[in-house]
Amino acid sequence: MEALARAVFLDRDGTLIRDTGHAFRPADIELLDGVAAGLRRLQQAGYCLIVVTNQAGVAKGFFKEEDVFAMHRRLREILSREGVGIADFYYCPHHPDGSVPEYARRCDCRKPEPGLILRASRERSIELRDSWLIGNGLTDVQAGQTAGCRTVLLGADADEATEASLPPQTAVARNFAQAVEIILWSW
Ligand SMILES: [Zn+2]
Repeated sequence: MEALARAVFLDRDGTLIRDTGHAFRPADIELLDGVAAGLRRLQQAGYCLIVVTNQAGVAKGFFKEEDVFAMHRRLREILSREGVGIADFYYCPHHPDGSVPEYARRCDCRKPEPGLILRASRERSIELRDSWLIGNGLTDVQAGQTAGCRTVLLGADADEATEASLPPQTAVARNFAQAVEIILWSW
């Protein structure tokens, strides 16, 4: 039987690209420092790269699912030029207080729920215990932990998080490059 793949699940806004608040214009995409180089290293180490992102702007009527696809096509293109292949993008369009009826509901995919990661794991045969999540929010690392991954918390939330409030097996990193170091040195 073929070995299961291992993945690094990546939050999008504030982790891979600058978080401008419900971004939906492909032209506004700005990769954060160290992301392209870091993703190349993870890829070379054999990790499958999968984006998992909450896009409540769909439920709130700020933009449509087509806009999410356009963002992801553009991001894929930008990263591909940097020699990085994103295996897949998974997003949650829901929000319990949304204004667009078909998306305004509780769901099991909006982080901190682990639904996006679990779906990716089923669809792409990923061994979650060998996988990681990198995100800049506590809800990201909670989703990763619940799914059974190890996690790295980036940036501002990491500064505020005390050891006591962090889920177990969560590393903290100042930036993307450091998050990648933590993952690559863990073996
Ligand atoms: Zn959802």
